[in-house]
Amino acid sequence: MHNYNILLEADKMPDAWYNIMPDMPTPMAPPLHPGTKQPVSPDDLAVLFPPELIEQEASMQPHISIPGDIMDAYRLWRPTPLRRAFRLEKALGTPAKIFYKNESVSPSGSHKLNTSVAQAYYNKIAGINELTTETGAGQWGTALSIACSMFQMKCTVYMVRVSFDQKPYRRGLMQTYGAQVVSSPSNTTDFGKKILSEMPDTTGSLGIAISEAIEVAAKSGGRIKYSLGSVLNHVLLHQTIIGQEAQLQMEKAEAYPDIVIGCVGGGSNFAGLAFPFVHDKLKKGKNVRFIAVEPSACPTMTRGAYAYDFGDTAGMTPLLMQYTLGHDFMPPGIHAGGLRYHGVATQVAHLIREGVVHPVAVHQNPVFKANLLFSQCEGIIPAPESGHAVKVAIDEALKCKEAGQEKTILFNLSGHGHFDMTAYDAFLRGNLEDYELDESVLAQGIASIPKIDA
Ligand SMILES: *Cc1c(COP(=O)(O)O)cnc(C)c1O
Repeated sequence: MHNYNILLEADKMPDAWYNIMPDMPTPMAPPLHPGTKQPVSPDDLAVLFPPELIEQEASMQPHISIPGDIMDAYRLWRPTPLRRAFRLEKALGTPAKIFYKNESVSPSGSHKLNTSVAQAYYNKIAGINELTTETGAGQWGTALSIACSMFQMKCTVYMVRVSFDQKPYRRGLMQTYGAQVVSSPSNTTDFGKKILSEMPDTTGSLGIAISEAIEVAAKSGGRIKYSLGSVLNHVLLHQTIIGQEAQLQMEKAEAYPDIVIGCVGGGSNFAGLAFPFVHDKLKKGKNVRFIAVEPSACPTMTRGAYAYDFGDTAGMTPLLMQYTLGHDFMPPGIHAGGLRYHGVATQVAHLIREGVVHPVAVHQNPVFKANLLFSQCEGIIPAPESGHAVKVAIDEALKCKEAGQEKTILFNLSGHGHFDMTAYDAFLRGNLEDYELDESVLAQGIASIPKIDA
């Protein structure tokens, strides 16, 4: 009898997040103030974030305990199942063991609720009743909408125009949870108006939407705070519940991963699964290979520059050391909207730099092909973003087949694709294009990276 689902008892759910900061092999470059170019102080961040999140952003404590109200919210869908993909293994004829953490079971359909619940909570206890944010594909906006509804807060979501127009059901979902959704660029902010006057036909971008959401919070006189769904240290921290659960579940399955794989937009679901295992590698000598997968159409980690850059288009965020395609970079309209970001989390970038994490880029047609096979074997339709991890997990399993190796592969199924069926439809009709960005396009984006003497 196959034990497909390796479940963790409710009372075994970890009650602290894992903080990778003290385990980093070398010191990290600090975030810089966008104006002075000096390291940011907690005061600089206080306009946007509540005190506890600012503290977590720079914390050197190895573990940060999860408050009871967040644990209680997590229990709505956590612990999530770890699944052994026996059927996929059989279809591939591979001797490899494939496991995946199924984060698609959350009410928002992705891992993002792990941090939105935490962020809403810390804002609420700081007396804040309203949050703004941006969303690309709609996953983050949905997750924050749900979290705000749980803690009786108002939520305004700046949604990248192309998604606003192409994903009416995502928009409806956020509105159902009580959020206000604004197409970005919009005429509700100064920056939005500026972009609209310069480029009235723009499809928008995550960078522009972030600028708009930040502007609203920054000009609210402390009443409204801003919330970000990826990239920042505290976001990655909240996601480590994924990997910590996975560690306990792998133990139950009497297995340990040789390879850990996640897709990367800003880096949070990858980090969430991988970081607790990175601890095992750095501190316990475990031999694990970490693969971070991005789309070839937005090749931040594989073709970007390692440099300080802004997180948004207007240049209002702190400067973060990262791999970046430049904050002006406009990625082509691929269907994995959650992976269309010009930068990547500082912590993930640092581990790539240290040779701990290995980035790879894949095209969207092979991703969807892998997603079809996965769907037909495992019954779950992956989000196009998650499909990047599925594709590389399959590639690794096929390498094992060729070499006759029985490796153990673990990947993160960051979300399901029920709201992405337009993308599947485009693939099934043969209408998806694979973009190979030429150097001149990349060079243009990279030219927008600020020159910092660090
Ligand atoms: C947002 C999203 C991603 C990309 O964001 P990360 O911060 O890199 O995890 C990946 N998968 C899904 C399903 C998403 O919603």
